[in-house]
Amino acid sequence: MEHFDVVIIGAGASGLFCAAQAGYRGRKVLVLDHANKAGKKILMSGGGRCNFTNLDAAPKHFLSENPHFCISALKRYTSYDFVELVDRHGLEYVEKAPGQYFCEHSAKDLLNILLTECEWSGSEIRLDTKINTIDQLEKGFKLATSGGQIQCESLVLATGGLSIPTLGASGFGYQIAEQFDLKVLPRRASLVPITIQPSMKEKLSTLSGISLDIEATANGVTFKEPMLFTHRGISGPAILQISNFWQPGDELQLNLLPDMDPDAHFKALRQDKPKRALETELNSLLPKRFVEVMKQDVPWMTKPMAELSNDNLAELIQYLTHFDVQPNGTEGYRTAEVTLGGVDTNEVSSKTFECNNVKGLYLIGEVLDVTGWLGGYNFQFAWSSGFAAGQFV
Ligand code: FAD
Repeated sequence: MEHFDVVIIGAGASGLFCAAQAGYRGRKVLVLDHANKAGKKILMSGGGRCNFTNLDAAPKHFLSENPHFCISALKRYTSYDFVELVDRHGLEYVEKAPGQYFCEHSAKDLLNILLTECEWSGSEIRLDTKINTIDQLEKGFKLATSGGQIQCESLVLATGGLSIPTLGASGFGYQIAEQFDLKVLPRRASLVPITIQPSMKEKLSTLSGISLDIEATANGVTFKEPMLFTHRGISGPAILQISNFWQPGDELQLNLLPDMDPDAHFKALRQDKPKRALETELNSLLPKRFVEVMKQDVPWMTKPMAELSNDNLAELIQYLTHFDVQPNGTEGYRTAEVTLGGVDTNEVSSKTFECNNVKGLYLIGEVLDVTGWLGGYNFQFAWSSGFAAGQFV
């Protein structure tokens, strides 16, 4: 039987970060992962360049049944703290959008920083290790793994969510949480492309690859970002963001003209350029392929502006500002960036991340019911929660 002070299950973002913090405190730390590589999601993230934080990582950018839960951890380890860490390692990075930091070259550079931190802190990482059972002892835990029996004082579940099973995602964290009678809230794939009804899919099939700046609204929340038509439905930042708030059955409103007052625009055009065909004007506002598809629904768009009635204009504006794509679901965990929901945060301390009723058991990162918006927020919660637990394990 091997003995460690701390065993962390999951060599992903939160697990590796927590390991380094605990190691620096002099704790003997072992990180276990069933995958053959540490930090697989980090490598895939941000299109291979990892959007590792957002300078505006405030609680309002996170969804949870308990919206106050993340406040303390985000305050104690901020995005500025993480930037200071990567600066010390000489990471080259870029600010792609305001506050949104990506590696300049490759996500590998960020993963290497985490692995270096683990090495410097003396934390050990073991991959390709299956955890068969976990039993609570009078003081600590006993794990039966494919590499033998291990005993530890503190056990950290950093197993992440369910998204992208091919990257090592599993429901193991939820299963262990349930073994210890922790409440697990319903989960669903999020930050995920939305699929559309088959009848509609055919009509929009020619649009695959087209990107439009839109405003997506669901359940009273609006995001103004680009949307991408795909061969399965719709994706792009606006859709991934709104997928945190939209659920099958809900209305999804897409405004394709978010930067103008369309009523004033088209009425002024009718007056100023009466001979101009509506189609010509639409071709200057929207991608040509989209206007072609639109023709099926608005056949009178070839007419000159002067011939369009107020009712025509009202119909046109309704069409473009409430573009009806009839969603029927999402692409699911296969392509989702995160899992919404998870272990109820009321089960753990927001200061230490230790379970209230299971001494020595800690949960950090995405396994908890804390989900960030798109834009580096999810990694920041992994760092902040890993840091917090790392001070106490
Ligand atoms: P993870 O990083 O997922 O780590 C969990 C670890 O647990 C994995 O190594 C896994 O192999 C291991 N594990 C799971 N089950 C077991 C088991 N049974 N036994 C042993 N080990 C197990 N967020 C951002 O902020 N910015 C981005 O740019 C970004 N891009 C993303 C792109 C993609 C394609 C995806 C899928 C996600 C992206 N995210 C991004 C989200 C971000 O990757 C996660 O929120 C973050 O990695 C969560 O950290 P974690 O430590 O909780 O879990």
